[in-house]
Amino acid sequence: MTMQPEFGTFFLPGPTEVRAAVLEAMVHPMIPHRGIAYEAMHARIVAGLQRVFGTQRPVYLMTCSASGAMEMAIRGAPEGPILSLVNGAFSERFARVAQSCDRATRVLSVPLGDTPHLEQVQEALVNGGMHGKTFAAVTVVHSETSTGALSDIRAITELAHHHGAMCLVDSVTGVGGTSVETDAWGLDFVFTGSQKALAMPPGLAFAVASEAYVLQANVSTSRGRYLDVIEYEEFAHRSQAPTTPALSLLFAADTQLATVGAEGLTVRWARHAAMLAYTEAWVERVRTSGVGIGYLPRAGERSPTVSTITLPDGLAALAIVTRVAELGFVIGTGYGALRESTIRIGHMGEHSVATLAPCLVAVERALRGN
Ligand SMILES: *Cc1c(COP(=O)(O)O)cnc(C)c1O
Repeated sequence: MTMQPEFGTFFLPGPTEVRAAVLEAMVHPMIPHRGIAYEAMHARIVAGLQRVFGTQRPVYLMTCSASGAMEMAIRGAPEGPILSLVNGAFSERFARVAQSCDRATRVLSVPLGDTPHLEQVQEALVNGGMHGKTFAAVTVVHSETSTGALSDIRAITELAHHHGAMCLVDSVTGVGGTSVETDAWGLDFVFTGSQKALAMPPGLAFAVASEAYVLQANVSTSRGRYLDVIEYEEFAHRSQAPTTPALSLLFAADTQLATVGAEGLTVRWARHAAMLAYTEAWVERVRTSGVGIGYLPRAGERSPTVSTITLPDGLAALAIVTRVAELGFVIGTGYGALRESTIRIGHMGEHSVATLAPCLVAVERALRGN
């Protein structure tokens, strides 16, 4: 076995740092995936995730990255045009997936760092639709990992429902880091990936579909095969996956969810909120001391899992990230259009203010050039 470095150096906004015990769980020998030991593990993982997602519905355990669940959401969505709310690279990906699945798609964009403007969403739903049909579904990203903005998915789902549309939610950096109440908020389809706030290795997606979504998907002809939501729904009742699941990753998920459950969700959300508050105070202190950094999203709309920080002219993201790496910490450059002008710190998963603080010391040194 290789030596495990001490926990607390890896702050990428995905994949996130995975605890040694979770990595070690993956060396478990194989088991039959159509057998009682597997079914027991599957059921345990689903039960853990149901608490995280706030749902009584089955959680689909998918062997693919989160983008696979994004495509499932679109493929099984009700027939008709789709309204895609775009405020960054991942919400744009959602719109592209809709288009690539041959859906008539209207994109409603806001400036990077913003969250979707509710009046505009309302107006698009009232006046909108395409080809004489009203919108059948809205796509939205909860925590836009490219900008660090946190959208009000509850309000957007309410609006969508009011206008007869379903709401499809990418909560890849939301689920596990902030409260998501799938049932109470009426989310029609919501998903995450293993490698973000749940702090598992990459390679799994977790998704929940509402009963209403599944009911209409039953008669859809565009569901595809590998990502067929109805297949997942049917196998969920037997605590199995439709195709051979990534067993090693599920051993890791099983181990990690025990930790998530033991911590308790209220404590977990508060830990993430505390990391955001700590980073906000740090940005403010560094800024007022003369280094012109700032938050991209406005206060009150910032994700508790990822901070996207703007750099002053003359400081390049790659140079900062490289210097921080020399000091022993991994953070991210910006993403997409923001690649050079921002840095991103992923403060999620098993991190805490205690592990984040030394990382921010290193970032501050890099920013000050010492
Ligand atoms: C990471 C991420 C994705 C894509 O996840 P993959 O696992 O790479 O497919 C989608 N949406 C958001 C918001 C993300 O942060």
